Amino acid sequence: MSGGIVNAMTCDVEDYFQVSAFDAVVPRSHWETLPSRVVPNTERLLGIFEESGVTATFFLLGWVAERFPSLVKDIAARGHEVASHGYGHRLVYDQTPDAFREDVRRAKAIIEDRSGQEVRGYRAPSYSITQRSLWALDVLLEEGYTYDASIFPIRHDRYGIPGAPRHAHALSREAGRLTEAPPSTVRVGGMNLPVAGGGYFRLLPYWWTRWGIRRVNERERQPAVFYLHPWELDPDQPRLQASAVSRFRHYRNLSKTEARLRRLLQDFRFGPLGRLVERVS
Ligand SMILES: [Zn+2]
Repeated sequence: MSGGIVNAMTCDVEDYFQVSAFDAVVPRSHWETLPSRVVPNTERLLGIFEESGVTATFFLLGWVAERFPSLVKDIAARGHEVASHGYGHRLVYDQTPDAFREDVRRAKAIIEDRSGQEVRGYRAPSYSITQRSLWALDVLLEEGYTYDASIFPIRHDRYGIPGAPRHAHALSREAGRLTEAPPSTVRVGGMNLPVAGGGYFRLLPYWWTRWGIRRVNERERQPAVFYLHPWELDPDQPRLQASAVSRFRHYRNLSKTEARLRRLLQDFRFGPLGRLVERVS
């Protein structure tokens, strides 16, 4: 186990058909009709965390929290932090500020009601707070959120602000002060490369993640912020007819995630993101 640094474990709770890459092939009106797998997949994650003695932050989609209140209760009862992934999984930069406000307000109210916990954190669908949607940070502050985890400091086709700070930091906005807690990257050859989660955890070999988090912890003396989705532990999920790139990103190595996650939980210490944020603000 690496040093005394406690990294942040985070999970974006959404169903396999709600990911942005499938927007074009799964209309929202079909969400109700597809077989849901989010409850058993999240329960499986909860079991793994419990066996490893890890508490985490669950960024819940309001749509999921509304339909599965006992899942939200269970997450909170097991000592995890609940936070918001918005209500309807719409990309921030595709929304008007008013529509975004409605979405994050609705999600916060539902998750707080179902969990009995105050919601302080937000993570945008597909890290969609970018240079053109920074206004969202003011809306979050006005709606009672105190931290955001949506700005990926990398270059990517769908998200990212390449020059953004790489570690958790306080941001002064017109509406007040907010803590920004980005997913972890390493700096190599003048570029920021993602090392802590999602597709990168599944598509690249495990040593990449271990090397990256070690580098962040040991060389920079900073905690890492890791993220994953419940559907990433579900090799049996129904296959959707999306583009070849999306299918590769979504389905590759699903059967390997659980074993990798167990290794990761042995190799590093983890806790909720809210606790890491408190040390910054
Ligand atoms: Zn998402």
